[in-house]
Amino acid sequence: MLESVVIIGSGPAAHTAAIYLSRANLRPLLFEGFMAGGIGAGGQLTVTNDVENFPGFPEAISGADLMERMRLQSEKYGTRIRTETITKVNLTEKPFRIYTEAGEEITARALIVATGATAKILHVKGEERLWQKGISACAVCDGALPIYRNKELAVIGGGDTAMEAAFHLTHFASKVLIIHRRDKLRASAVMQERVLTHPKVEFLWNYEVDEILGENKVEGLRLRSTETGLLKEIPIGGIFYSIGHKPNTGFLDGALELDRYDYIQVAPGTSRTSVEGVFAAGDVCDPLHQQAIVAAGSGCKAALECEDFLR
Ligand SMILES: Cc1cc2nc3c(=O)[nH]c(=O)nc-3n(C[C@H](O)[C@H](O)[C@H](O)COP(=O)(O)OP(=O)(O)OC[C@H]3O[C@@H](n4cnc5c(N)ncnc54)[C@H](O)[C@@H]3O)c2cc1C
Repeated sequence: MLESVVIIGSGPAAHTAAIYLSRANLRPLLFEGFMAGGIGAGGQLTVTNDVENFPGFPEAISGADLMERMRLQSEKYGTRIRTETITKVNLTEKPFRIYTEAGEEITARALIVATGATAKILHVKGEERLWQKGISACAVCDGALPIYRNKELAVIGGGDTAMEAAFHLTHFASKVLIIHRRDKLRASAVMQERVLTHPKVEFLWNYEVDEILGENKVEGLRLRSTETGLLKEIPIGGIFYSIGHKPNTGFLDGALELDRYDYIQVAPGTSRTSVEGVFAAGDVCDPLHQQAIVAAGSGCKAALECEDFLR
C-alpha cells in the first residue's frame, strides 16, 4: 500500500506533525523507533523528570507523561504508530522507499524526519545510578529545578554550549565550576568573556571526570588530571553535561544533505530538505535551540508544508 506520509520519530516534533496531518485526514504512519539512538519511544523528554517550561502545565508535568499525552493525541485523530526503527531509506525516486529493521519496505509520497538528537554522556562510574539525581544534560531545562538551586554546580565542557550553560546556571547556583580537559576553551571569544569575568564562575583546567560520587544524589566528583593522571575529589551539588549532541541521522546514509555536524540541512525558515517531499523537524535539524516547544513548533511547520506538498 502506498502511504501518503510516513513520519520517523516519536518526540514532540514527530507527534505534533502527526496530530496536524491526521487532523487533515492524511492518516500518517509513524515509526516511533525501538531504542533508536539509545532512546525509547517518546524521545528525550522521557529521560527527564519534571518539565516546567512547556506551556499549558503551570504545575509542571513529567516528561514521560507529556509524551504519553502527545502519543494519545496522535492516535486519537488517526495516526497509526509502529514501534519499529527505520534503518534505511531510498529517496532517489518517487515514491520514497523506507525500510524497517525487519527489512520490510514501505512506500510513501512524503516523508517527515523527526528523529531527534542524543545528548552525549561521559560513560563514567556513578553516572547511570545518579542520572537525573543531580546529573543533567540540559542546563536550560533543569537548571531552575529545586535540586540545583543555591548549590555549587559543575559544567563539563569547553564549547559555546558549555559557556551558555554555565552562564544560565549562575542565576540559580551559588557557584559554577567549569571543568575542562584542556587548558583553553573552544568557545567563541564573546562567550568566553561572559563567563571568564563572571564572579560566580570558576574554572578547573586540565581535568576530566573519573567518577560521580554520591549514594542517592550527586555529592561530589572524582577528577583525573589530564596532565599528571593524579586523582582528586571535590564536593559538588550537581553536574551539567555540555559535551554536545549526536543527531540521529546515520540511517539516512547520504540520502539528505547534512551540515558538518550531521544535522539535516533545511531551507532557511522552512522544514524543506534537499529532497522535494522530504521534511525535517525538531532537534535533528536544529543544533541551536533543542527545546521541546521549539521541536513541537517545527513539527507543526513540517506538517503544514507537507500537507501543501501532498495537495
Ligand atoms: C535530560 C534532558 C532534559 C530535557 N528537559 C527539557 C525540558 O525540561 N524542557 C524542554 O523544552 N526541553 C527539554 N529537553 C530537550 C527536549 O527533550 C528536546 O529538545 C526534544 O525532545 C526534541 O524533540 P524531537 O521531537 O526533535 O526529538 P526527540 O525527543 O529527540 O525524539 C526523537 C525520537 O526519534 C526516535 N528515533 C531516532 N531515530 C529513529 C529511527 N531511525 N527510526 C525510528 N525512530 C527513531 C528516537 O528514539 C527518539 O525517541 C531535555 C533534554 C534532555 C536530554
